[in-house]
Amino acid sequence: MLEVIPDIGFKRELSKLSGSQLNQCMQCGNCSAVCSLAPAERPFPRKEMVWSGWGLKDKLIGNVDIWLCHQCGDCSSSCPRDVKPADVIAAIRQKTYQHYARPRFLGKLLSEPALLPVAIAIPVVVIITILSLAGTFRIPEGPVDYSAFFPHGLLNGTFSAITLFFYLMAACGIGRFWKDMKRQTPPGESGIHSIPVGKVLGEILSHSNFSGCGSRKPGKLAHMLLFFGFSLLILVTIYAIFATITNNYPLPLSNPFKIMGNVASLMIYSGLGIMTSQRLFNREVFGKSGYTDWLLLVAIALLTLSGTLVEAARFGNWAIAYHLYFFHLVVVWFVIMYLPFTKLGHIFYRTTALLYARSIGRK
Ligand code: SF4
Ligand code: SF4
Repeated sequence: MLEVIPDIGFKRELSKLSGSQLNQCMQCGNCSAVCSLAPAERPFPRKEMVWSGWGLKDKLIGNVDIWLCHQCGDCSSSCPRDVKPADVIAAIRQKTYQHYARPRFLGKLLSEPALLPVAIAIPVVVIITILSLAGTFRIPEGPVDYSAFFPHGLLNGTFSAITLFFYLMAACGIGRFWKDMKRQTPPGESGIHSIPVGKVLGEILSHSNFSGCGSRKPGKLAHMLLFFGFSLLILVTIYAIFATITNNYPLPLSNPFKIMGNVASLMIYSGLGIMTSQRLFNREVFGKSGYTDWLLLVAIALLTLSGTLVEAARFGNWAIAYHLYFFHLVVVWFVIMYLPFTKLGHIFYRTTALLYARSIGRK
């Protein structure tokens, strides 16, 4: 039998992150009754609210159900004690990806405002070291040519290796997450038959779970704009890497991938604009926005904006082009390499949880 140990420190952290008075929950079950995404069998979020009130960390971390929630806020609107279950579930998700972060300090580094200078200093120091070792850490003469500052081969090699290292570490954490989900929500007698990758991919791409949420429908558009804009940018970046290898970089403005990149930027700007206004002016539905929410939105905004400025600086031969490029590289690191340890890590954890949930028939 699984041993369950209350952790009062964990309960306090959840309270702080969610702004919720957990002791106020009277376990009425309204929240589970109104949730359109909760399965009929062992619905959420009432049981998670009870466990949170007891500080049952072991039952909450590795709980598949918190990832089935799409934070529509319906449960919070219906809670007679104003306990904000939607924000509590969001706080548990945040504690989850911090818990599985490897190396462990990265989870802490990207969740505490006091450590932000260290999180920024790491890429700054590493990039300066790489450029100094390559002997290119200076402003090159002549028309703007970013490869004279950071040779493309070196950039591709070092950034790819560092990204791979971080993602492999993250994969170890996700492996442990899968095992914990199996322990917390064991498959029924029939066990795990197959993992429905295509079905889950369809769910994610169509954002169908957002449609299931009553009041969160307005959030679907913003989420889709960000999701597809970001995915397009990754695709364009992969193409750009191949273009540097085949000496076809920089891309002309008329190149289809260049056009795709600019369209992706517009999608991200629009998604960010909608999301920011929703978080600022519709807190009733979108809940409490904490440090990790804003950090992600600001980092994506800076990534897109600096990318646009770097492009303009090259065409316009701006004097500050290389400074902008350096800044852009730091933000690329922040968003892409730190991805599994920030709220963007939802991409991995939610996908893994959906795969597990659907493979055991939990809908
Ligand atoms: S969180 Fe609110 S709605 Fe849910 S069980 Fe507790 S008191 Fe009831
Ligand atoms: S926020 Fe929405 S999806 Fe999440 S538990 Fe509450 S009602 Fe369900």
